[in-house]
Amino acid sequence: MSQDIVIPPNLLPTDGRFGSGPSLIRTEQMDELRQCATTVLGTSHRQSGVRHVVGDIREGLRELFAVPDGYEVVLGNGGATAFWDIICCNLITRRAACGVYGSFSAGLADAIRHTPFLHEPIINQAPAGSYTLPQYHPDVDAYCWAHNETSTGVQAPVTRIPGSERQAALTIIDATSAAAALPVNLHEADVYYCSPQKALGSDGGLWLSILSPAAIERANAIAASTRLEGARRWIPGFLSLTDAIAQSRKDQTRNTPAIATLILLRSQLQWLNDHGGLTWAVSRCQRSADTLYQWAERSDYASPFVTDPHARSQAVVTIDLDERLSADTIVRIMQRHGIVDIAGYRKLGRNQLRIGVFPSVDPDNVRALTHCIDYVAERCLDNGNTASHA
Ligand SMILES: *Cc1c(COP(=O)(O)O)cnc(C)c1O
Repeated sequence: MSQDIVIPPNLLPTDGRFGSGPSLIRTEQMDELRQCATTVLGTSHRQSGVRHVVGDIREGLRELFAVPDGYEVVLGNGGATAFWDIICCNLITRRAACGVYGSFSAGLADAIRHTPFLHEPIINQAPAGSYTLPQYHPDVDAYCWAHNETSTGVQAPVTRIPGSERQAALTIIDATSAAAALPVNLHEADVYYCSPQKALGSDGGLWLSILSPAAIERANAIAASTRLEGARRWIPGFLSLTDAIAQSRKDQTRNTPAIATLILLRSQLQWLNDHGGLTWAVSRCQRSADTLYQWAERSDYASPFVTDPHARSQAVVTIDLDERLSADTIVRIMQRHGIVDIAGYRKLGRNQLRIGVFPSVDPDNVRALTHCIDYVAERCLDNGNTASHA
């Protein structure tokens, strides 16, 4: 029976965490956290110890992403989901256009739709497994899409929509599972935001955002407009981007951050920058992703879900299994062996594996994972054949 399958230990990866977020945190980061156990942890975020960590993070992000002059690194509490509401309150003047091609790109579009003082967003939608950028529209002041759609394993380019600059519209990119895994030229975006528990390999709870001068100016103008007599817009203090900008300039956050998350993030940024920065990180992810896509293409029971090779994510890899094999069974057997979080995205409802191949994941372990899946799949298929002959 398939539940009795035991994978030989020599096939197993040395680390079985392949989640798409929260993702693998390297043990060296935990060592660094331990070193801060009696110095930074448990101390005030208004004092130099923690502020130093925040300063290093802001500097580390500048280096990693070659942040253009005039752009600022801003952070706050609440993760990318909170940042969606921040976008609604602080960055869209009237109307946005959104590319929607999965749960996460839909998340911002939904938040915009529910914001009473904004117009109905213009949605350009593509089926799961593909993407579409929002299209130019004369009545739009912000174009929004996701660099990597985590739910489906689709990556989209970051490039300004033709005509958007002439209308002074902002380009707002959800980079939550892309930042540090996919290449980006920040001149092509005004807002590049993420949470640190995915490609950046830290823990959750924070949002990080790189803002262009135009985005900062937009936030200032919108904040000023809310102070006018009869203004319809309300910006809750917790969602104030101008406040977050002011706090970040002092290497602080409005309220107390998770200091452990900050320390883990600093450690990860140092690791990435010491090893060759974004170029190195991207090529490492690419190696892991190529291993999986090539394995699936050679396999007679697995295939890449995303058909367009350019849209296949190098950060989150989705692999369809044919109906002779149950992804649930494979996932369960893997879990028993310490290989975790490789199930497809629940709401997508496919017979699918989804594998996070962020920079912290060792490409050799991705190779090992394919061997483990082959080992299990071959035995499941044999069992199936035996059963049908019985
Ligand atoms: C995970 C994810 C989010 C939500 O991040 P939280 O930190 O849970 O708020 C948003 N966008 C994308 C693309 C994601 O992958």
